[in-house]
Amino acid sequence: MAKRTPKRNLSLPLVDADTCACCGTPLPSGQGYDVPHIGAVGPVCATKFGALGELITWVNGRNVTDVSSQEAWRVGSRLIYTLKNIGFKVQVIDGVLQVGKLERKKKDAAKSYKRRRAELIRDLQLAQTLFDEKGEQLPLQGVA
Ligand SMILES: [Zn+2]
Repeated sequence: MAKRTPKRNLSLPLVDADTCACCGTPLPSGQGYDVPHIGAVGPVCATKFGALGELITWVNGRNVTDVSSQEAWRVGSRLIYTLKNIGFKVQVIDGVLQVGKLERKKKDAAKSYKRRRAELIRDLQLAQTLFDEKGEQLPLQGVA
């Protein structure tokens, strides 16, 4: 069987892995996309996890006082709540949000994420317009 190298996509780094951490599918290339705290996933699941990576990046290190309106607060809170619901430990340390490790099984977290993904992407896009004055686009194309 020819060795397949998965196409590089999203901003997720490739790491050595035998099976997908999300669905357990064997990875013939011996490589998977490293999703923060979830692990290496196959090319199919990777297209779904881009948004989670963006969300973790968006939340992690964010100052809790960085809220310009009630609506921004609501959307920001919802995103943090979603992360917690998926199974991530989210803490505020010295006024700064920290996304910690998963507090449940990776597979359960992956399933939970899949159920919330559409909502999560919508909130993340909303948050981007509410929080980022520069209006920079998050790299959500292709994952939404
Ligand atoms: Zn998978």
